[in-house]
Amino acid sequence: MRIPETKINEISNKLSIYDVVSDYVTLTPKGGRYWGLCPFHTEKTPSFSVSEDKKMFYCFGCHKGGNMFTFISEIENLSFPESVQRLAEKAGVELTVQEDEEVDKRYRAMMELYNRLKNSMHYILLEKETARGALNYLQERGIGEDTVREFSLGYSPDDRFWIYNFLISKKYSPEFLEMTGLFSKKNKKISLFSNRIMFPVINSSGKTVAFSGRQLDSFGGKYINTPETFFYKKEKRFSGFIQRLRR
Ligand SMILES: [Zn+2]
Repeated sequence: MRIPETKINEISNKLSIYDVVSDYVTLTPKGGRYWGLCPFHTEKTPSFSVSEDKKMFYCFGCHKGGNMFTFISEIENLSFPESVQRLAEKAGVELTVQEDEEVDKRYRAMMELYNRLKNSMHYILLEKETARGALNYLQERGIGEDTVREFSLGYSPDDRFWIYNFLISKKYSPEFLEMTGLFSKKNKKISLFSNRIMFPVINSSGKTVAFSGRQLDSFGGKYINTPETFFYKKEKRFSGFIQRLRR
């Protein structure tokens, strides 16, 4: 499982490393540290030390050292996530709830991104001179402005970096953009969509979760769709509306 950094900090702040280590080792204070017999090698005089200030342990004999999580991981033979889990229980920190919150936060941010992009491309289609060809293409096929508005159709500008630059200007991180499904896997700044009519794909709660882009030039496939993502699972068929246009 993935454990958020904030949770690890919270556990680390709630527990003292003295409390964690002294469950296994008898510690005595000396010179601003605690000392005890090392649990990781055999010795008769203590060379194992714990610093509460640094929240670290270190053995001057066998040179093992680390924080409270690595200590538990070593002594109990647990993976790092398992040792975090163990200390979360000791600290009374709930891990699973926060996980859900993180996922939820990411989902909401993604829905906001898609909505923003949809609105901007819709505006471009209706208002920008560069989208005139796209608007004409639709009109020739009997799709007027009313329909364009009703389905929030849009236009992705004839610049393969436009979507990336637009979203970066809205303060989204490159890491977050990688999860959108909007970009080439090879070049993460190049959008799948340029010079295309954009059809928002709506989920059952009315949120835009994907796009289908209709080609206007000979570049790439006739239709390009965003791939499946953590927020979008493909359905078997397109909406009747896109179906009609595909003919
Ligand atoms: Zn040691």
